[in-house]
Amino acid sequence: MIPTLAGPPVIEFDGVGLTYPGPPPVPALHPARLRVSRGEFVTVVGPSGSGKSTFLNVTGLLDRPTEGVYRLDGIDTAALGEADRTALRGRRIGFVFQSFHLLPQRTAVENVMLAQVYTGVPRRRRRALAVEALERVGLARRMEAAASRMSGGERQRVAIARALVGEPSLLLCDEPTGNLDSGTAERVLGLLEDLHASGMTLVVVTHDPGVAARGARSVVIRDGRLTEGLTGA
Ligand code: ADP
Ligand code: MG
Repeated sequence: MIPTLAGPPVIEFDGVGLTYPGPPPVPALHPARLRVSRGEFVTVVGPSGSGKSTFLNVTGLLDRPTEGVYRLDGIDTAALGEADRTALRGRRIGFVFQSFHLLPQRTAVENVMLAQVYTGVPRRRRRALAVEALERVGLARRMEAAASRMSGGERQRVAIARALVGEPSLLLCDEPTGNLDSGTAERVLGLLEDLHASGMTLVVVTHDPGVAARGARSVVIRDGRLTEGLTGA
């Protein structure tokens, strides 16, 4: 095994689990231990209904676990009130979803600028940061195109730029290539690999073993149980 230089932990799960209250109660995430260090590219792979979105929503501070201790960047998230959780999420986490979640009538640059609309960053600065993020994802020449006029691959790159613009410590992606044809998916995966190479910490959940194999480390989720899988490729 090649030793890896692990950075400080970004994600620390100690017995973290989530049972939806129901009725009937659904144990969607069984108590798990998980460490993801700075700069890692981890994929979480499992079939539909296995708990991937639940895992991502807990990790992304959208849902509170019903048990265990979750530390993000060393911060015990259970101790935080709603406002502090929201602020922590905004500063540290970028989300990328299967269905892009862009405003169709707005341009690429406007969509990316919206990510920081409530941060108090002045508009001109937001625009400059959005332009920079779009350049980073290879969309320098498509900034003024409306999202509705972009291809699926371009839309996903806009969504990735929007996720990156606040310089998060963690990028969380839920089936990021689920709506893309295979050639386009390949380019988006290449972009995620480039981000990893530049030091970004990435967690990608997917049902697709081909996508899962792109991670430097793969975790399997089945019936809400996380298990470390084999290292990709
Ligand atoms: P995946 O993303 O892998 O398809 P999910 O995390 O969406 O899986 O769902 C995991 C399990 O939890 C499934 O059995 C699903 O039906 C259930 N589930 C998801 N959300 C809720 C909810 N809000 N209330 C009750 N059960 C839920
Ligand atoms: Mg899901």
